[in-house]
Amino acid sequence: MNDFSYSRPTTTTEAIQTLLSHPDALYLAGGTNVIDHLKLGVVTPSQLVDIRHLGLDKISTDAQSVTIGAGATNSAAAYHHEIQTHFPALAEAILAGASPQLRNVATTGGNLLQKTRCTYFRDIHSACNKRQPGSGCAALEGFNRSHAILGTSDACIATHPSDMAVALTALEAVIHIQDQSVVRTVPIEAFYVSYGEDPAKENVLKPGDLIVAIEIPRTAWAGHSRYVKARDRSSYEFALASAAVAVDVDAGKIRNCRIALGGVATKPWRAHAAEAALVGQSATPVAFRAAAEAELASAKAQKENGFKIELCKRVMVKALQEAAEMRRA
Ligand SMILES: Cc1cc2nc3c(=O)[nH]c(=O)nc-3n(C[C@H](O)[C@H](O)[C@H](O)COP(=O)(O)OP(=O)(O)OC[C@H]3O[C@@H](n4cnc5c(N)ncnc54)[C@H](O)[C@@H]3O)c2cc1C
Ligand code: SF4
Repeated sequence: MNDFSYSRPTTTTEAIQTLLSHPDALYLAGGTNVIDHLKLGVVTPSQLVDIRHLGLDKISTDAQSVTIGAGATNSAAAYHHEIQTHFPALAEAILAGASPQLRNVATTGGNLLQKTRCTYFRDIHSACNKRQPGSGCAALEGFNRSHAILGTSDACIATHPSDMAVALTALEAVIHIQDQSVVRTVPIEAFYVSYGEDPAKENVLKPGDLIVAIEIPRTAWAGHSRYVKARDRSSYEFALASAAVAVDVDAGKIRNCRIALGGVATKPWRAHAAEAALVGQSATPVAFRAAAEAELASAKAQKENGFKIELCKRVMVKALQEAAEMRRA
């Protein structure tokens, strides 16, 4: 591990200025991802800027939305009464991730920015375009069972690992980002970018940008939302395929729905094709399966992960069935 210095600012402005004055500096939130990467040599910052003392841990509610401070822990968000009641898919997604100990320190902002679990990304001796642009992608011809089937490129096939981000995508959350002068808002779907030729670029953040909050709008469908996650073991494991769905069903017909997928794509994957296939349809398993087929039509499997295509369809159908049942209950 390289030598680095540590600072503990008490205002967001001070944090941003400190980060910008050290070119290789990184923000430190819960540290559950960034400290791993320090130990593995994946990152070698000159400075860690601790952002746990900026007062960003509040969760506030009003008639339009719920706003989660970027420093709120995953546990605080998952067990918040308003989130459990009005945004159940989000609470379920958070509780489906990591372990209670990790969730007690991991933060909302850090969760959105955690890095891929691709083995080759975490092994500094392997070729990896994401860690070292231009070095190649060891996963393309290597062990790629857990890798993506949607949104891949010849440069990178890594999945985005966050469960929370998948639920937030289905719930159309808005990210509040502070720079040196203003706070701007970015819808989560526009926040994550497609890998293309530069897999190191994962989102629209600029150097120094600090996520300060995540706002989730109240909608007619958010209260009828579910998160279903398939994984190799039932806890403490990342998704092989997951789906967050929110549906507004009226007299058996789907008036509106939002669907996002995890564990299968290079970013939290908004399932627009499936949504379009469902609106106006009867809420039946046949319609759910047709929507899943539509979304996965563009999936591209690697040598070892072809099973994810069928798995993802089944996870989508299960999540849609459960969410539609909530509406009837
Ligand atoms: C064993 C294990 C199992 C796990 N299983 C799961 C799982 O099943 N599902 C899942 O979703 N996650 C899982 N995780 C990941 C875990 O949820 C993340 O490590 C955690 O959410 C990251 O949050 P943090 O606050 O610790 O981030 P940190 O490690 O502190 O930071 C992560 C990154 O975000 C940056 N950052 C943090 N906050 C901000 C901010 N406000 N603005 C700008 N940049 C910021 C940091 O600079 C760093 O680059 C697992 C982790 C471990 C170790
Ligand atoms: S899939 Fe992406 S993260 Fe994994 S080795 Fe290839 S370039 Fe690196």
